[in-house]
Amino acid sequence: MLTDHEIRRAIKVMRHTFPDAGTTLEADTTFHFLLATILSAQATDKSVNLITPALFQRFPGPRDLAAVEPADVEPYIKRLGLYRNKAKYLVNCSRAIIDDFGGTVPHTRKELMSLPGVGRKVADVVLAECFKIPAFAVDTHISRVARRLAMVEPKATLLQIEHRLMAAVPERQWLDAHHSMIFWGRYQCTARNPQCAHCPLLAMCKYGRNNVM
Ligand code: SF4
Repeated sequence: MLTDHEIRRAIKVMRHTFPDAGTTLEADTTFHFLLATILSAQATDKSVNLITPALFQRFPGPRDLAAVEPADVEPYIKRLGLYRNKAKYLVNCSRAIIDDFGGTVPHTRKELMSLPGVGRKVADVVLAECFKIPAFAVDTHISRVARRLAMVEPKATLLQIEHRLMAAVPERQWLDAHHSMIFWGRYQCTARNPQCAHCPLLAMCKYGRNNVM
């Protein structure tokens, strides 16, 4: 298992490799960013960005979405997987924002997670990106990278990964580290064909060394 120091060193290499790593979801308001993050479940940010301009134009705020039925939203998002469920989430989430939070996206994890379609990862992404509240959202890329690099035990849960990274990385660096690890997982340590032979972290990565043998 990597030590705290080694985790920080690995993430530093990732940041150095992808110095511009940041959010790739496009949105003009906090509400729209929340919608885009909900839509990004099991979809690429690129595919979400393709469909959100028309969605956001048709539904500028939560009241606009709360006033329609999921079937009215489906045509805007049907190019994404799970679009029927996601349409329900968007409408019900908007209704909850109106009914429970006076039409404003809340800014605590507990309140965000009370919204339909919002789990811990979505809540943490919104907290960190929109409200600059320190959080370390763990997605599929981060969990894969953390496990392969032995930052955590192979069977660590998402929550255990989150806690391990938060303990090893200074709070002020959580958001950058989150983005660096996502880019690393997206472009270097990819799910199917990780670029182990040319990886600057090969020396500290047993998984990678086994992969290139
Ligand atoms: Fe990922 Fe391979 Fe690099 Fe390890 S050596 S971090 S598995 S790309």
